[in-house]
Amino acid sequence: MNSSEDYVEEVKRWIRPLQKSLTIESESQFINILGKEKFFNEYLNFSLKDIDKFNFKKDYENKFQDFSKRYENYNSLEKNQRKRLVIDTRKTLFELGKSLDSVLEIKVSQNYQNQQNLLKGTSLNLKSDISKIQGVGKNITYKLNKLGLFNINDLINYFPRTYLDYSCREKIINLRPDNLYTCIANIKRFYMYKSKNKNNLAIMNIIIFDETSSIRVTKFFIGKRFRSYSFFASQKEKFKIGTKIAISGKVKLTEYGRSFVDPQIEIINNKEDYLFYGKILPIYSLSDAITNIHFIKIIRKILPCSVNYPDILSEKQLKSLSLLSLSDALINIHLPRSQSFLDEAKKRLVFNELLLLQLKFILRKKKRRQRNFSRNFLVKKTFLNEFLNNIPFTLTRSQSEVLNEIKEDLMGESPMSRLLQGDVGSGKTIIAIASLLLIVEKGYQGAMMAPTEVLAEQHYKNLIKNLDPLLISVGLLTGNTSPKKRKKLLTDLVNGQINILVGTHALFEDKVIFESLGLVVIDEQHRFGVNQRNRLLKKGENTHLLSMTATPIPRTLALALYGDLDVSQIRELPPGRLPVATEVISDNKLTELFKIVEKEIYKGKQAYVILPLIEDSEKLNLNSAIRIYEYLSNEIYPQFKVGLLHGKLNSEEKNSILDHFEENKINILVSTTVIEVGIDVPNASIMIIYNSERFGLSQLHQLRGRVGRDSYKSHCYLVTSDNNAVSNKRLKVLQNSNDGFFIAERDLDLRGPGQILGYRQSGLPDFVLENLPENKILIDKAKVEAIKIIDCDPKLDSYPSLKSLLLDKSGNKFIHEFLN
Ligand code: ADP
Ligand code: MG
Repeated sequence: MNSSEDYVEEVKRWIRPLQKSLTIESESQFINILGKEKFFNEYLNFSLKDIDKFNFKKDYENKFQDFSKRYENYNSLEKNQRKRLVIDTRKTLFELGKSLDSVLEIKVSQNYQNQQNLLKGTSLNLKSDISKIQGVGKNITYKLNKLGLFNINDLINYFPRTYLDYSCREKIINLRPDNLYTCIANIKRFYMYKSKNKNNLAIMNIIIFDETSSIRVTKFFIGKRFRSYSFFASQKEKFKIGTKIAISGKVKLTEYGRSFVDPQIEIINNKEDYLFYGKILPIYSLSDAITNIHFIKIIRKILPCSVNYPDILSEKQLKSLSLLSLSDALINIHLPRSQSFLDEAKKRLVFNELLLLQLKFILRKKKRRQRNFSRNFLVKKTFLNEFLNNIPFTLTRSQSEVLNEIKEDLMGESPMSRLLQGDVGSGKTIIAIASLLLIVEKGYQGAMMAPTEVLAEQHYKNLIKNLDPLLISVGLLTGNTSPKKRKKLLTDLVNGQINILVGTHALFEDKVIFESLGLVVIDEQHRFGVNQRNRLLKKGENTHLLSMTATPIPRTLALALYGDLDVSQIRELPPGRLPVATEVISDNKLTELFKIVEKEIYKGKQAYVILPLIEDSEKLNLNSAIRIYEYLSNEIYPQFKVGLLHGKLNSEEKNSILDHFEENKINILVSTTVIEVGIDVPNASIMIIYNSERFGLSQLHQLRGRVGRDSYKSHCYLVTSDNNAVSNKRLKVLQNSNDGFFIAERDLDLRGPGQILGYRQSGLPDFVLENLPENKILIDKAKVEAIKIIDCDPKLDSYPSLKSLLLDKSGNKFIHEFLN
């Protein structure tokens, strides 16, 4: 890295934490939040003053000095004044960051030259088989194949899951515990020994020093072969006293003071040699197939092939959008030159995904407009009214509104595409049934899909109960349906004798053919991938879609992922519901808790006990369903009937247990999270969740939603053995709120959207999802660009790479229709 680039990095490293704390402060409503060591205002006051080293232009310097002073008096400001100050500071920092990017732009083209050099001497190309890579033998080829990687292009498009930033270079004296650092130092002492407790572990300790101080470094070697004399000797030779090394990793505070624990170490012979020193280290998802370092070495060998990677955008577009070329982005996503380059690389790759999505949306809309919709709406029957008259309650206002929206959609010109959001227990199922009835009234078939067998069964039973009197026939298809039943079912379906088919993933299968599919309802839609949804829709013509979810999706994310989807919300719970009283309790209070539960059960109520694991595991020290089941049924509650439910039971066993629970023949149901979605037993009023720190907040909220389903006061106990303040604070969010939206937002802060929303299956890389809320601008840009492209060149003839990518990636017929 040369000096101007270093300078940009340094300033950006100063800006990042400031921006972060400003964001947090404004999200916390300007209360002057207390950070790790200082109050927000102290931190800003200090950091904005300490800028001599940057030599900013005069006007920036003045501005920052002025801000700094104002933060000193932050406490005496009104909320509005605080807000103003925070906004101004953010803006100024943002501008400063932008002005630095122009320096980087020049560097990008230089970077390109370097890549050209990298390319010399390789005969590989994107289509080459990975076995052609030097040093990749049969064994590694096989392992990579198992990861779905066959040629060089696959490798280039296999993006890191995350990164470790080793770019923070420091002198030893400045190292603080719990941070990542890179140091250059010399070896002062070396010793190595076999662990006494573990017979496959060897431990190496070295002491290193630079001109400022010294520090201990510990490295672990797991495996019997590392305990041999010859290995010890080889290490001793490698880490000779006086050897210069680069060391990168986390500094921890141990009983011997500060130490690097299990860092990356590299011997420095030749400056160009080292892999990690001062770098941002990519981390790949590799399971056990191959080590991360080995994988990086392979990537380095093949990366030159991505020079001149066919770009889907023209140079002119890149310039006007200020985006990196695709080849620059690919190189920097694997081997980031700096944090700024990494940010730019992500931005570019995110843009690609967004552009493709937007193009698909546009094409789909076009198609809809083109089709002349003429469904035969002969409303002879009035199933819906009959059904609504028969249920034991009236719809809430929200429910009625949503139902009206759906009615209108179903009468409209183009197929409905609607996302129904409603918190757990808000009554989405009724809406689903009503919609299915509307489609049956119109002479079409309906399909309802659920992510688990247990839930599909439950919907099926619910439908039978409600629809049998109306002489509407309902079928159930899951992976466990017997071949004989299945055959009959599929025949009836294609003949139109079945009006509504409920099921799991089994519904996607090619053999499932409808006579006239009119509506697809997807429950817990975030559990399905976009492609799966589309496969089902394609089984009919202009099929209407209703997807339902209890997990609120932030608007930007919904837009990015679903573009043209309409959104309805059920904003209220049915009347008479009391919030579930939630309490975080320590696992040494369980005895008292068991007594409380006992009383409730004597009153006729029922309880769920939820565990993270089915069986005990050696690796994880967690409670398991089987053990707690035995403990509760034998020792705590011998007088009650305790049931056990988990994913390894077959469907008959599952059903019979759920039936018994529903009929209150089981008082306490010990279960894994298989009950998370959909289970509806209103008499259950207690939920105990063991090891609750292991679950995400939204997941806990879903679980908790299994109780509080009638007007009886319900309780949820979040049991934890963890004294960790962070996880306690996390759990307290649930104690204090029953609002799914709020909880999801908090969860979003804590874990990022990919994990919570389960969009992994959407096919988008994690980093696309990571920052979507902040990527709003990028989403808009992608939309504008997509419109421009289609307007000027509807068949994408001047965008060959883009066109082939769209055709390749999408099984949708309409895209092929439009582009060919
Ligand atoms: P979710 O939105 O979580 O899928 P469900 O559809 O399972 O919720 O409904 C939860 C419970 O509330 C069910 O027992 C259902 O019968 C009941 N319910 C639904 N709508 C109403 C209503 N308008 N009034 C009273 N109870 C209702
Ligand atoms: Mg539901």
